[in-house]
Amino acid sequence: MADLLLALDVKGRNAAVRVADACAGEVDAMKIGYPLVLSAGLGIVKDLAKAEIPIIADFKVADIPNTNSLICEEVFGAGCSGIITHAFCGHDSLATCVDAAHDHGGVCYAVCEMSHPGALDFLSGGNAEKMVEMAKAVGADGIIAPATRPERVGVFRGIIGRGMKIYSPGVGTQGARPEDVKMYVDGLIVGRAIYEATDPKAAAHEFHVRSK
Ligand code: C5P
Repeated sequence: MADLLLALDVKGRNAAVRVADACAGEVDAMKIGYPLVLSAGLGIVKDLAKAEIPIIADFKVADIPNTNSLICEEVFGAGCSGIITHAFCGHDSLATCVDAAHDHGGVCYAVCEMSHPGALDFLSGGNAEKMVEMAKAVGADGIIAPATRPERVGVFRGIIGRGMKIYSPGVGTQGARPEDVKMYVDGLIVGRAIYEATDPKAAAHEFHVRSK
């Protein structure tokens, strides 16, 4: 039984508010990232508040600790309740985001393996496992791991146990099915299969049911 997270990768305020409002009650959280924030501004967080869906900023933060800290201040100051960071920059960069999130009563999730084929070009050979261990050591609230490789998600669950969450993108357009991975994860992340659907509310409802 997993939560459903909407990846709101639409461009512009109107499209974002329309999809978010339609999906209210069907999704447990939504994440916003560069496509939406670069097109609509960070003020979109307040514009989306009416839907009453917790908002996680998926900026895949990947910088030195000081810059990460400045990014986190903006994200949580805007009203987001969580942030997604890359793990590969190392323990100090990740710990800065975790601490900033917790200082604001928020959560921080670390990307340890991505869902697309090229993700394995460099971050393979045991590095993902090392990043998962590091995320656990610095107190991250969870990790992001690919629904497109359920066996990998199972490996990561073995490292972190049940004390941390796993959120998993790759369901829908990238080919994974909720049934492949929901037993390993705390939440499924679905973007295009919901926001590009003719009826986003109906699509969200279907994924909601299938994720339980
Ligand atoms: O449209 P789709 O369902 O493929 O969207 C997946 C979302 O999850 C996108 O926002 C993408 O940036 C994100 N993501 C991913 N793989 C990761 C981490 C995040 O696909 N490892």
